Amino acid sequence: MGKVYAFDHEGEAGCCNEEVSTLYVAADSHKEAAKLLKDGMAGCCGRCFSELLADGSWDVFAPPAVEEPAKCKRCGSSLTKLLGRCMDVTCPYNSRKQDETWTEG
Ligand SMILES: [Zn+2]
Ligand SMILES: [Zn+2]
Repeated sequence: MGKVYAFDHEGEAGCCNEEVSTLYVAADSHKEAAKLLKDGMAGCCGRCFSELLADGSWDVFAPPAVEEPAKCKRCGSSLTKLLGRCMDVTCPYNSRKQDETWTEG
């Protein structure tokens, strides 16, 4: 399945003669994309490329969702990556794991 590579570009895009700073090339690898662009076989500005995508012949992958950093369930502070404990020293979960129950008082 093809991927889409973005290349820095100065001047007019071949597709519509608009001045653009980025051209997009659909290819299987960066090397192939660079070759297609060099040979003038590919390379679209974002607008034309989106029209190309809109015709439905490409699988478009959204970037992977950014994982929310883990937060303390009691105080909302960040958790240490290694032990998963609260970074807030005043919080009871500073010395406990998040899955350990802690009762007030
Ligand atoms: Zn264009
Ligand atoms: Zn906490």
